[in-house]
Amino acid sequence: MNKSLSVIVPCFNEEEVIFETFKRIKSVLLKLDIQSEIIFINDGSTDKTEQILSELSKTDIKIKIISFSRNFGHQRAVTAGLNHCNTDMAVIIDADLQDPPELIPEMIKTLESSKAQVVYCVRKSRKGEGIFKKITAKAFYRLLNFFSEVKLPVDTGDFRLVDKSIIREFNQMHEKGKYIRGLVSWIGFKQVPFYYEREARFAGETKYPFSKMIKFATTSLLYFSTKPLKLATTLGFISVAISLVLAVWSVLGKIMGYTHAISGWTSLFLLIIFFGGVQLLTIGIVGSYIGNLFDEIKNRPEYIIAKKVNFETKEDDKTE
Ligand code: UDP
Ligand code: MG
Repeated sequence: MNKSLSVIVPCFNEEEVIFETFKRIKSVLLKLDIQSEIIFINDGSTDKTEQILSELSKTDIKIKIISFSRNFGHQRAVTAGLNHCNTDMAVIIDADLQDPPELIPEMIKTLESSKAQVVYCVRKSRKGEGIFKKITAKAFYRLLNFFSEVKLPVDTGDFRLVDKSIIREFNQMHEKGKYIRGLVSWIGFKQVPFYYEREARFAGETKYPFSKMIKFATTSLLYFSTKPLKLATTLGFISVAISLVLAVWSVLGKIMGYTHAISGWTSLFLLIIFFGGVQLLTIGIVGSYIGNLFDEIKNRPEYIIAKKVNFETKEDDKTE
């Protein structure tokens, strides 16, 4: 085995775990007889994460650090990692040790024995996470798959091993709203599952509050499907059909005298709120796509790098 490996670790305020994460990844890499590096992406942490990483990088040149100018989000942190690795393979792993680094050798073996380009890790179970997170995650992956135009594996996060061809293709994609696991599926080639038990967070709290979860879910849905737009059209058709039937019924009722104006208040009230709701919903769906178009058209960089550590060339030290 003479391939090279990058381990990409996005970190946002992970001072409580980052040293342990480094230790565990390092001991796995030492046992692997291949050239390797760890790329930590400090996603605008406001705690001691950067300080700890910087200390570590002084003693170990295999630790590379990319520090963002502010918090840009998990997906962009992973994107930066993939944009900066020149190795034959890369593992994407969370900093909180929910994804055990000890599985990496097994994942590499699976990649080689099945001659695949991607080994994606599927969660058999999730420890230490609340019932709300478990249910919403399960529902989300299934709903997304229903809507998506690309087949996306369920119960799969970004914890995965990808080879050079995937990294190369991924780096060609310049959309701003990145749903990385979806894009990797979209690229294709041979992708094989690897089942594992997701551990509880080693320390600290989740950096994915409800608001970030919603943003993540809507990005993935809107970037992987235009079905919600079709749903808006379908809802529009249904409401037009209902209103036509009701129009005929009410006009005939007036002529033939079987409706009484005052007793129609409830139905009028219900119709107004129903159609009002349908209209707002459809405007909202269309608006979400327009908002994304707006973001893409502005063509701003996906992230701003404040500092890079242990990258070789001067060229690398430029701010992107
Ligand atoms: N993360 C990040 N930027 C963010 C939020 C999270 O880089 O804005 C990192 C975080 O440090 C961790 C990974 O993304 O390494 C997953 O986050 P977390 O474990 O908090 O999410 P959860 O596992 O609870 O869904
Ligand atoms: Mg986590």
